[in-house]
Parts: sequence; structure tokens; C-alpha cells
Amino acid sequence: MKRKDFLKNGLLSGALVGSSLLANAITKEDNKDGEALNLDKSDKKNVLEFKNEVDVIVERPVSGKPHQGKVLLAIQAHSDDIPLFAGGVVAKLMDEGYTGYLLTMTNDDKGDTIGNRIDAENVAKAYGMKKAYFFNYPHHQMDSVQNQEIKCRLIYLFRLLKVDTIVCWDPWEHYEENPDHYTTSRAVEAARWMAGGAADYPEHFDSGLTRHSPRVRYYFSRDQQRINRIVDITKYIDKKTEVNMLNVTKGPAGQGYGSKLKARLAAEGKVLPILGNTDKEADHNWVKHFVFDIDSKRTNFSQLSNKTLGKPYGIEWAEGFHYISDLEDQTPNLIEKYIKENAKPK
Ligand SMILES: [Zn+2]
Repeated sequence: MKRKDFLKNGLLSGALVGSSLLANAITKEDNKDGEALNLDKSDKKNVLEFKNEVDVIVERPVSGKPHQGKVLLAIQAHSDDIPLFAGGVVAKLMDEGYTGYLLTMTNDDKGDTIGNRIDAENVAKAYGMKKAYFFNYPHHQMDSVQNQEIKCRLIYLFRLLKVDTIVCWDPWEHYEENPDHYTTSRAVEAARWMAGGAADYPEHFDSGLTRHSPRVRYYFSRDQQRINRIVDITKYIDKKTEVNMLNVTKGPAGQGYGSKLKARLAAEGKVLPILGNTDKEADHNWVKHFVFDIDSKRTNFSQLSNKTLGKPYGIEWAEGFHYISDLEDQTPNLIEKYIKENAKPK
């Protein structure tokens, strides 16, 4: 079994995902690997019985606007990243009151530069966001850009917009192939950390900016190895579908494949009930049911469909994230505790 396959299987079965356990992470059918690693039978037996050390929190829809006054920055390398991989959670957070911005890192110049820019602007508008930003780095060549330059621009934006929450690629995902995705995510995580300090770019403060670090992160990936947050997007799957259909120059959703399939089947004297009755329904349903469920691995490179992700939690449609919140960091002050317990009158 390849490590990547184990990690996937481990995730599905709730096994602990971690390289330190790799030596134990061999199933019975992996005799060949077992021999190669010189493992005896006792090493092999309990492979998938490890408990997931990560508690999975299910985030459900809430009523009202609990996030009013907070700022969301959704960051993508390309115009289809956020819609495909986090289109539901962004719809949810916007609906729950966030002021939103969309940042696209590349100029998509291996495709249709102008078209992709218009698509991203339309996506931001459909979400009700205030603005779409573009950093215009070269498509598929972001790894040629100085990380320091990317971080510097991100820190400025985090401080300027006073970003509370970011949605982006996961910087700790090991198997991402696209250099734009991993370059973006690593710069974002470093910039997020640095933006809250006083030591970096202090000249910002002379211009009226203040130190400010986004404190909540929803990180996604195509081949997720660490999911600690399942977000119920059932209420937003249709919105996610609509937003994806705005990507007409990239992605699998804006090309009218549903109505084309409906026409092909009609010529063959067939109908596919899942597509619905009209061309509009067919285009929508093709994306909703094929891209985000039935054929998600081939059509959008997601290892798990939005339905499969939700199934263990009794949720119809879900997205999964590596979620980190500094707001929940309640590390106790042990010095103060020690003083309280041990200090004596002089
Ligand atoms: Zn991408």
C-alpha cells in the first residue's frame, strides 16, 4: 500500500493520520510491504484500529447574522478554487453576516486571463462580497515568485481589511501537485502569523494600519489528510452549484454539460431523471450531482464527494476542513496558577 493510499483509507476509517505510525500502518493484505519493512505479524494487526486523535466538530447552519461585523477573506490561486472546494462554507459564512472579499493570486494566463478575471468578479458578486482582489502572479509559476513579496502583500491586506477569517488551501497538505496552490497556502499561513506582530513591516503603522492577524482559518485540499471540521452545507449546495456555474472559462461547471448530455440522450431516445426537465435544470443538476457527488474525483479532483463527506455525520451535503481557531485557544497561564498556589506572605 502506498503511503498516500493508507492516509486516505485511514481518514475514511477514522484512523490516526501520522507519519510516525507509518510503520504500523500496514494492513494484512500488504504482505509485500510488510516483508519489505521487515515487520512481523504483530506489527501488522491493528492497523486500522487507531482512533482519530483529532476531534471532528460538525458546524451546522445558524440563524440570524452571528458573524456581523467580521471580515472574511477567501483566497484562491485560480478562479475555480474557492467555488469548487469551499463554495459551500463561503456561502454559509456570507449568509451568516460576514463582510467578504475574494483574493485571486494568479492571472490565469495559461488560460483565459480576462475571462477568468470576469468569472472571479462574478463569483465575488454572487456571494455578496465587497470586492475581488487580484495579485496577478504567473499561472502555474507562482513558485518562481519570491515568497517574501507574496507575504508582504498579504500582510498588508490582512491589516488593511482587518481580516478575521480566511478560507484557503491547506499549507500542510502533502500531496498537492499544483505549485500555485501550495505556494499560495504557505505564504498565507506565514503572513497570517506575521501580520499580528509589531516586528514585521512597522512602517505600516505609520500609515495608520495596526497589527492584525486573522484568527480563524478554514483550510481545504483536494486530498485532505486532516479534517477536523465538517461543515453542513446542505442549505447552500444549490448556491455552491450556482457560483461554480459562473466559472465559464475554467472548472467543470459553466460549460452547459448538463443540457448537452440531456440533448445527447434525447437523440438516443433516453432521459436521465436526475437531470430534471429543462435545460436550465439539467445544467444545474449535472454540476450538483455529478461534480459534487457521483463523479467528483474525475470532474473536480476531490477525493471525497460532498455527499460522502457528510454521510458519517448524517449530513446530506458537507465540506471538510483543517480548521484552526485562535479564538478557542485557552492555554492556561500556568505561571499565574503557580503563583496563586505557592506565593507566601513575605
Ligand atoms: Zn487551482
